[in-house]
Amino acid sequence: YSPATKTFHTLRFPVPLPPVSLPLAFTSYLFSLLPDRFPSHPAFINASTGASLSYPNLVSQIHSLASSLHSHLGISKGHVAFILSTSCLEIPILYLSLLSLGAIVTPANPAATPSELSRLIHLSSPTHFFATSSSSSKLPLHVTPILIDSPLFRSFLESDSISHLSDPIEIRQSDPAAILFSSGTTGTTKAAAISHRNIIAVIAVMRTIQPSEKETTLLIGPMFHSMGFFAVMNNVMRQETVVVARPGPMSLTISLALKYKISQMLAVPPLVIALTQSDEAMRLESSPLRRVICGGAPLAPEVAKRFKALLPNVELSQGYGSTEAGLVSSMMGPEECCRLGSVGKLHDKVEAKIMDLGTNQALSVGQQGELYVRGPAVMLGYVGDSEANTLAFDSEGWLKTGDICYFDEDGFLYIVDRLKEMIKYKAYQVAPVELEQILHSLPDIVEAAVVPYPHAVAGQIPMAFVVRRPGSNINVDDIIEFVAKQVAPYKKIRKVAFIDAIPKTPSGKILRRELASLAASGSLSK
Ligand code: AMP
Repeated sequence: YSPATKTFHTLRFPVPLPPVSLPLAFTSYLFSLLPDRFPSHPAFINASTGASLSYPNLVSQIHSLASSLHSHLGISKGHVAFILSTSCLEIPILYLSLLSLGAIVTPANPAATPSELSRLIHLSSPTHFFATSSSSSKLPLHVTPILIDSPLFRSFLESDSISHLSDPIEIRQSDPAAILFSSGTTGTTKAAAISHRNIIAVIAVMRTIQPSEKETTLLIGPMFHSMGFFAVMNNVMRQETVVVARPGPMSLTISLALKYKISQMLAVPPLVIALTQSDEAMRLESSPLRRVICGGAPLAPEVAKRFKALLPNVELSQGYGSTEAGLVSSMMGPEECCRLGSVGKLHDKVEAKIMDLGTNQALSVGQQGELYVRGPAVMLGYVGDSEANTLAFDSEGWLKTGDICYFDEDGFLYIVDRLKEMIKYKAYQVAPVELEQILHSLPDIVEAAVVPYPHAVAGQIPMAFVVRRPGSNINVDDIIEFVAKQVAPYKKIRKVAFIDAIPKTPSGKILRRELASLAASGSLSK
């Protein structure tokens, strides 16, 4: 903590970054780190099919695909590639070849409904679309996607006529590299632009904080979310193996961990909870599993305690970050895992401030307020939304995280509460405003507000407070069903309470925290 500037920063792991003025695509940075000889273990394994992708094939297919996408489809710097697919072996190749061309990787959740996708397409203005034969029907009719499970795409991957680009593309570190969708602190989903510099900064940090042993990582989270997106990049940089799996019963996850000799698992809190509740978890104690990294949502200290009791030889490391701030702003290092409830220390080059919610003054050690962050991993901003950018950043370029936090005297960060509207259902983002807009389209509803309701496994579920039109007899099931038809399954409203009026500020803003405390207090009549 520097009292003079009232900012927090870390003293650990200084990370060298290339000079910002140097034109450098993330892929050039990545390839410059790769050794001359490829490792013999696979880069990626698809646990559903058993298929694997070796390092020599990964690298040659990245080059072939980039060349084909450029020469056959004209994909080049600044083009926006919208990608709708579940996690599979083609995705890392597609991400890295698009990045090498300077195109903007824009992955979306394949569970989204067609109307949700139309909105994401409107936000990101894609020039090209990639989908699978099962996800493509959700895209608007006027769109013709390249199917990544088609013979054409396979021929692109295997083409050996690598044409050199007629115009060598100069990619600057400040150029956008990806668009990741996030609702941020307020309102509906927005398109967060992530630069090549941001990815370089995140990957450079990961280089220094991870142990030197080679990991075999189990990735169950999706590759369209920042956790999966960066897991892909990090894996290639470290020349390790990622086993890509779909969420399933814990017994299956444990069997996969044993089958593939998993040494590291990337997890969200519901997975850690399920692990601590599984009778079979003990089987992992004598396996190569060394570490579970958990992030995306708060993990209750009791769960962490149960985990330690059950698997004393496995390190449980919490990381904290966001789509906007970069994958991880802080992380628990191996030597620090006994700090229960903390999300570790800040990464190098992440500056932080704790701001008082009332006075907006920077606070000191031990004091709670909103966390602001600044640094090379923080996003460029939301695409085409100056209003959202004005709300997200202050005049000195600090990103307001919307999380209420404090630092202890040893520099450990604790996330106390979430100030922002965002609900996290199993670590997936749900924007209350989007659900409210759907509820308001029901003639039986005069007014509605959606807030998080605590849930032991999911963390939070979306709960609606609804003011019915006088005389209406619409019931809870009608409302739940009406919304469920229009949203991806994880966004469903799972609890409803009827109320006489929605509490608001004099300026008409919903008092969400008041409603959330009312819901959590258990004092609502059914
Ligand atoms: P996302 O952009 O989907 O990664 O969501 C970021 C938000 O998730 C953060 O701003 C926090 O509110 C929450 N979050 C992420 N990691 C943690 C964590 N380890 N503990 C508590 N909340 C977290």
